[in-house]
Amino acid sequence: MKPLLEITDVCLSYHSLSGETPALSHISFQLMPGEFLAIVGPSGCGKSTLGRTILKLIEPTAGHIIYDGKDITSLNIRKMRPLRREMQIIFQDPYSSIDPRKSVIETISEYMFIHKSYPTRREIMNRAVELMDMVGLARRYADAYPHELDGGRRQRIGIARALSLQPRFIVCDEPVSALDMSIQAQILNLLMDLQDELNLSYMFVTHDLSVVKHISDQIMVMYLGTCIEFASSDELFQKPLHPYTKALLAAIPEPDLESRKKGFQLIRGEVSSPIDPKPGCRFAGRCEHCMAQCLEKTPEYVETEPGHFVACHLVNGR
Ligand code: SF4
Repeated sequence: MKPLLEITDVCLSYHSLSGETPALSHISFQLMPGEFLAIVGPSGCGKSTLGRTILKLIEPTAGHIIYDGKDITSLNIRKMRPLRREMQIIFQDPYSSIDPRKSVIETISEYMFIHKSYPTRREIMNRAVELMDMVGLARRYADAYPHELDGGRRQRIGIARALSLQPRFIVCDEPVSALDMSIQAQILNLLMDLQDELNLSYMFVTHDLSVVKHISDQIMVMYLGTCIEFASSDELFQKPLHPYTKALLAAIPEPDLESRKKGFQLIRGEVSSPIDPKPGCRFAGRCEHCMAQCLEKTPEYVETEPGHFVACHLVNGR
């Protein structure tokens, strides 16, 4: 089977008065059809920016984005238009990503009108109602406005709109982090059901590793614009290698207070400046295993076992 998405050495820098500000640095990975890839990292590490760069909402500075065997890195807005149907995004905050002046049915049908998905208005509206059923939104909400609905229902509108063009790949940008715990589980279950039903490939951006523990196939951990570890979900949870990944796993709340106390690991130290990163490992200022070479040389991103990549001198120097 061929990968649906191949990302090779993607870099992104912003120009500012003080020079180049790196946002993404040499990101590479593959996503197979029907696969669930979680991108995990702290706020500001570039995970949402990566999602938007892959969708070409932001132009990468270097590297290649191959979608379904085609290099889309340099495609302009007009040439990207047909691919917009296949590559969609679900945003973190459903309230700010939908137009408060449009009713539920108008929002869900919006993209279908833009892309002329069906020849008549009636067919588009019928499809919008089908999508409401598919995402579990009762038909009585068709004429409701976003402010009349709770966060979970608003997010269902965002999901229905993303599905309206029958995509194959969806970037889910922290889609549950603004929701209550009970609603989070409902939305995650819905996304999983839709993935099975429609053979969707997800790139799921989150800062919370516990959210994706049971639902992801692969996990990529990012820190300050770089990928520091990549492995299958089982491998990452059983055998994390990077000190930051270990700290993330230790921070997952345990129902048993005693085991939580044993495993908890506070990350101390100073976060490196993302604007002007120091030479060496970007996690060095917070790593309890930091060695002299960590301050001088950037660790290489190495495959330590089949499918398990890590960037750390401690692991790669063994
Ligand atoms: Fe820690 Fe060094 Fe590994 Fe960075 S390269 S995570 S500083 S041990």
